[in-house]
Amino acid sequence: MAEIIIKNRKRPAKLAGYEALAKRLPINHPKQEVIAERINSINAGFGGEKRLDHLMRHFNPHYQYLIIQDLSISTNVDFQIDTLLITQSCLILLEVKNISGLLRFTENPSALHQTKASGEEKSYQSPLVQVEVIKWKLESVLKSLNAVLPIHTPLVIAYPNQIVVEKPPGAVIWSADETMIRLHNFEMPPEKMSQEKMRILGQQLLSLSLEYNPFPLAAKHGISAGEIAKGVFCPTCKKAEMERCKRTWQCPGCKLKSTDAHHEAIREWCMLIKPSISAAECKDFLSLEHLSTARNILKSPLYKRVGNNKMRRYYREMQAGIHEK
Ligand SMILES: [Zn+2]
Repeated sequence: MAEIIIKNRKRPAKLAGYEALAKRLPINHPKQEVIAERINSINAGFGGEKRLDHLMRHFNPHYQYLIIQDLSISTNVDFQIDTLLITQSCLILLEVKNISGLLRFTENPSALHQTKASGEEKSYQSPLVQVEVIKWKLESVLKSLNAVLPIHTPLVIAYPNQIVVEKPPGAVIWSADETMIRLHNFEMPPEKMSQEKMRILGQQLLSLSLEYNPFPLAAKHGISAGEIAKGVFCPTCKKAEMERCKRTWQCPGCKLKSTDAHHEAIREWCMLIKPSISAAECKDFLSLEHLSTARNILKSPLYKRVGNNKMRRYYREMQAGIHEK
């Protein structure tokens, strides 16, 4: 049987980037607070989406369908969809929100107001307006693909500790726990395309998907390369800088030994400082004694070499399909 989930959700690339940034900046660095907030917010979003994926694992409706998890489209319009359900009758766009506490969706102007358990109040752009904008953008993409289909946009609340106390009349908001059953019972409009056409549409949408490349992060946050700690960090305790002895890295803290921990450090360089690294930069960043060691490390098939001799730089494939914006 053909694959029904035609794209699976992956851990967001920028999450690893922000974690590396937090790890390599001094604990009391003024940007640590903003970085921690970014990590929390990305984690919350990803956690909510994963929860919906889990709750949908037994999804088995009476109609034919395809699912795309985390679709980023970049054509003349840019937008991202948490989960897209494609059927022969319509598209259902599931926008997942993980914002805890009491939630009030207001209008004139539209906004989402959150009251946390601590009593703290916070306001956000209205997710209901956000999905309307995404729907409008998706409609223009569908038109360009000659596939005009109705689009439904229920908003999905990821956890039961998110309590909606006010919403505009007519707004469709589902809990993640009820989403599967709502979709099973969904009153499908008449079929607009064949199964074959549906599969082609899924592939066409995937071919337009390109993920936004958020790297390198340091300059984007006004952090200079000099503020980023050098060295190879222990993959287990994450803190201590590892020492190199006889082609092996050893952690002075937990005594872990590793022969390839340097690759993670170079990946972090690429996420934080520059998209590529030279042998001299590698020697300096990994605190190596000899340039020849850096050259040997960079001979790994993980790196793509560009340029000759002294100008040679090494690129690491971070994640397939991410693009510069
Ligand atoms: Zn360690």
